Amino acid sequence: MYIKIKDRELFKRIDESLELPDRWNEFIDIRINSNSLILKGGRESNNNYTYFCVLCNKNFIEKNIKANEYLKCPNCNNKFIVKSNRLKSYEFKDEIAILDKVDDLYVVRQFRLCTVWKNNNKNSYYFEFGRSIYDSKFNLVDEIVNDNVVGTPGGTYISFRKMYSNEWRYFRNRYTYLPNQFIWFPFNLEEMFSDNKKLKYSLLWILANRVGYFDLIYMLRNYNPSVELLIKLKLYNLALCPKTFIGKKTFEERFKGLTKDYLPFIQENNLDIDELIALSYLKTKDMKYVNLFKNVSEEKLKTYSTYNINFKTLADKTDFNDKLSYEYEDYLGFCKTLKLDLKDKDILYPKNIQEEHDKRLKEVKDKENKSIKRGIIRRYKKISKNIFENKKYIIFPAKSYKDLIDESSQQNNCVRTYAKKIANGECDIYFMRLSSDKEHSLVTIEVKENRVVQKRTKNNMETTKEQNKFIKQWEGNILNKEV
Ligand SMILES: [Zn+2]
Repeated sequence: MYIKIKDRELFKRIDESLELPDRWNEFIDIRINSNSLILKGGRESNNNYTYFCVLCNKNFIEKNIKANEYLKCPNCNNKFIVKSNRLKSYEFKDEIAILDKVDDLYVVRQFRLCTVWKNNNKNSYYFEFGRSIYDSKFNLVDEIVNDNVVGTPGGTYISFRKMYSNEWRYFRNRYTYLPNQFIWFPFNLEEMFSDNKKLKYSLLWILANRVGYFDLIYMLRNYNPSVELLIKLKLYNLALCPKTFIGKKTFEERFKGLTKDYLPFIQENNLDIDELIALSYLKTKDMKYVNLFKNVSEEKLKTYSTYNINFKTLADKTDFNDKLSYEYEDYLGFCKTLKLDLKDKDILYPKNIQEEHDKRLKEVKDKENKSIKRGIIRRYKKISKNIFENKKYIIFPAKSYKDLIDESSQQNNCVRTYAKKIANGECDIYFMRLSSDKEHSLVTIEVKENRVVQKRTKNNMETTKEQNKFIKQWEGNILNKEV
């Protein structure tokens, strides 16, 4: 691949300026230690099993936990993923990154850390594979990769060849991106931002130390003073959503209308933005309830609250869960259409949401059909004056819903679906038939604003010249007289 001389020089200059920062090995060791396992052995008694902590090499007994769930080791107090002790080997992959600065450019050095656990031994290695280069405002200048990124017809893979490689080339791939979520090396950030007016108090180095994967570049691009405040309050998960807090001044504005007495609960559970939104509607300091509503969209929660829903009661009295959130919204709409008493708790909080939803839907449909049927009859009375007849043909409006269904099946067309439009006065349907055989369909005519807009014989075929002549006559003499 051809690399522009100017760029080649830049990549070289970056290479020569960068070093692994102080405390890098400490950072790597922390990551390696956090990549550990708890192996589940046989049953000890009743519901108790033996477990083995790979990190501290100790056995302990604990109640039954399924594989792939997390368990806290009582010796080292770390939470690790549980695997069966029949497991022979396991590999952890971490994407880690260093944000560094070369002159006025920011460089994200991207590494992969592999930790392989095999035969009760742990080995780890890491390698650098990519660099994203940004200008002082964190706009992307270029992305480059080295020999550890391999392009094949099937895609681009990151795989180990060399720990360091200075064979940098452009990363140009229409189908894949370099990752942007990393575990960030936190210990160089404070000093790096110390001469940056905007970022020197940002505390992003604390955030990087406290959360797992996140997109630091996004945070820097969208940085606002709320981030610093949220980090100070130890609200790390909320600090990750800087856009939400732009321009918010008071506590209640920032926290979706919640008052300060909710702060300890928000801190204690390190709520993320979805959980905060759920809490703002719920106003119940209990994670069991927050978890029930956190995956329901804010728009839906807002709609529910227009019905004066008490969210805790909703959780207690019904079988509500996020998969039923659409059904429940529709259900409330049906109840409103049916003019049911929405102050009645038995109506507002149905025990079985799906069942009640289906029941009320049927009632709404029945009600709608009734009103459509009445509407067609009303319309017929109004336009029956347009009946037109000569020796051969007659044109008259559909006088009932049943007539439309009958016409539909005789003509093999979809005129029955016009029922709602007729009832609403959006169009009219007329039948043209032989005067000598008024029961038998011939032509179906659609009229809008006194004009014929469609005329079709059986199977949506064209009308004959003679039929057209009669229809024209009717349109000119009768329909347009009405205007
Ligand atoms: Zn342990």
